[in-house]
Amino acid sequence: MFTATPIADIATIVDRARDAFERGVTRSVAGRRATLTRLRTLVVDHEQRLLDALAADFGKPAIEAWVTEIGFVLTDIDHTLAHLDRWVQPERVPTPMSFQPGSSRIVREPLGVVCVIAPWNYPVQLLLVPLVAAIAAGNAVAAKPSELAPSTSDALAALLNDLADPAIAVIEGGVAETTALLEQRFDHILYTGNSRVARVVMRAAAEHLTPVTLELGGKSPAIVSAHANLAVAAKRIAWAKFLNAGQTCIAPDYVLVQPSVHDELVRRIGDAIVEFYGTDPATSPDFARIVNDAHFHRIEKLLDSGTTAVGGDTDADLRYIAPTVLTDVTRDEPVMGEEIFGPVLPVLTIDSIDDAVAFVNADDKPLALYVFTEDEDEVDRVLANTSSGGVCVNAALFQVSNPHLPFGGVGESGTGAYHGEFGFETFSHRRAVYERSTRIDPPILYPPYTQSKQRLLRRALMISDPRDQLAKLRNRLRRD
Ligand code: NAD
Repeated sequence: MFTATPIADIATIVDRARDAFERGVTRSVAGRRATLTRLRTLVVDHEQRLLDALAADFGKPAIEAWVTEIGFVLTDIDHTLAHLDRWVQPERVPTPMSFQPGSSRIVREPLGVVCVIAPWNYPVQLLLVPLVAAIAAGNAVAAKPSELAPSTSDALAALLNDLADPAIAVIEGGVAETTALLEQRFDHILYTGNSRVARVVMRAAAEHLTPVTLELGGKSPAIVSAHANLAVAAKRIAWAKFLNAGQTCIAPDYVLVQPSVHDELVRRIGDAIVEFYGTDPATSPDFARIVNDAHFHRIEKLLDSGTTAVGGDTDADLRYIAPTVLTDVTRDEPVMGEEIFGPVLPVLTIDSIDDAVAFVNADDKPLALYVFTEDEDEVDRVLANTSSGGVCVNAALFQVSNPHLPFGGVGESGTGAYHGEFGFETFSHRRAVYERSTRIDPPILYPPYTQSKQRLLRRALMISDPRDQLAKLRNRLRRD
């Protein structure tokens, strides 16, 4: 169980982090590397404590917890350490002819003090990965774990306090503490969670004109075509859906499948569930529990939609909901009205891929979209006519694990992105620097603006940059 940070202390804690930032504690790249290396060691040292906390909070299976939380953070730190020297280099950019002699570059600067607010479902990864990016970019950080994973919040606070870094503050607590935290002035806020609270965060940020990254959720569809490899699609969908008992922001929320393969897909997903978790998933050590009673009862009500084709068992005392597949579901049923965020998979039939596209587009832009087909033309049609935070073709969840891909939503599923260099960029200010030689100082720009100066100025500004001319030529060649 965690100890909530006294509300009266929150301003002082954030001020301390700001003071450390202003004293330049976070600036040196060597110092950032040292902090990240110490953080890595602490994660390794605290591994068992974190795994135990995750198991205590909602029965997160140890191997899932290692892969999606501990290992995820370690690889993220390793990736950051491997590339940080390159990311921090000033980026030389061209300088137009009319601004010569001179040079231009973009310099990545830390923003200041950034606030990271994490949810409960991947409570380690979703706190530490943004924190790593913020440190890499040279910021001080105020980190707030979720109160809904209280043991993990406690373990994370212990780990970060062990860092004893004046530029890293941990605030523990729920709505009251987060409200007090959001009253402070930050230079960036990265919030992960639901879109209702995202609006609260954005309103609070507006008070200080603080930019935000909002990592949200929504209903992420999986489209299964009649041309899919069903054996593989069924396994990949079942794995992605029932990992963490469906409490994954990018889990396939529902399936849209063509009628000719509907029955086989449902049967194969049922087979995959037995293969993964046995005939009684309640006894499987590899299947997580629902995080709290409120979420348990919310998800349990969704089981009334459609027909239960697989699963459906529940146990309120253990907050257990079996991996469940619902068929004969229509769009107006409760299970299709909200993000499920639990181990319940509605399977709906759609006549064609174009109908699936129309179905997806009738809703908000999802965080993830999955399409299973062996037909490249269908892949192209889905990609060209939909929008989502990320996409996997013939896979699910993998878009989140590649540090070379940005992770973030679009529209209702989020604003901004992070992971790898994208996280470094999110927490950096791109400062434009132009340096001009003083060797010559033509008077053309200075008043008084005589007729001849005006003529010269117009001509000078209209000289096209050779790079623009080259690009135009390339475009023409490509079109012809
Ligand atoms: P949650 O309840 O843990 O809340 C997230 C954070 O918001 C917590 O730290 C909490 O203290 C804070 N909070 C809650 N109410 C608040 C309020 N009124 N004012 C200020 N702060 C408040 O998590 P959740 O929102 O239930 O998370 C689940 C949602 O998050 C789902 O929609 C899921 O899809 C989404 N999610 C998105 C991602 C992503 O990376 N895009 C990852 C995980 C979860």
